[in-house]
Amino acid sequence: MTVQIDLRISPSLLARKLLCSAYVATPFNKMDRFKFQALHAVTMIRVIVRHVRSGYRLIDIERRGKGYRIDLLFQEISSGKKRLDEVKSSKKIREVHRLQAALYPRDIAVDEVTISNRQVDEVLSSQFIQEVQRRAEITRQLLANNPEYAATTYTPHQDCCYICANPRCPFQPARMPAEGTAENAK
Ligand code: SF4
Repeated sequence: MTVQIDLRISPSLLARKLLCSAYVATPFNKMDRFKFQALHAVTMIRVIVRHVRSGYRLIDIERRGKGYRIDLLFQEISSGKKRLDEVKSSKKIREVHRLQAALYPRDIAVDEVTISNRQVDEVLSSQFIQEVQRRAEITRQLLANNPEYAATTYTPHQDCCYICANPRCPFQPARMPAEGTAENAK
């Protein structure tokens, strides 16, 4: 029997749970948080400048909802299309970043979802977003109905393991030989 439980989980955590249901987020220390926020702020400015030069206007920045925060909302001046933009400071856009961007609530009326870093803006297809939403629902059900199974089903993924804090996982980087260290997994 499937029991419906209201399990609120942020898009950033749920994206990693889609890749490995046993993933446990590593807490940021103050210095790491500061560095991350500084880098993210610089990337946000670059993304805004790029959009403005391409014919968009900025509608909103860091819009908050229950358990999530949307980085940027734009509107294309010529067409009126609204774009939700998730900003990443990493050099490479990873699979987990695409999953996260696809998981923002559907009640926000936008025409497209984009993920950006310093160099590029990548538009997600509606087909990809629908598929991610479908997988997310299955994962939510698993986490709610069978948490012990979810917490011990280890599926290593390069976007998760290097920052995972699950102490029981045999694939946890701290337990792996040298070639499996977090640094090598990036
Ligand atoms: S270290 Fe283990 S629990 Fe964590 S993401 Fe990798 S496989 Fe999953």
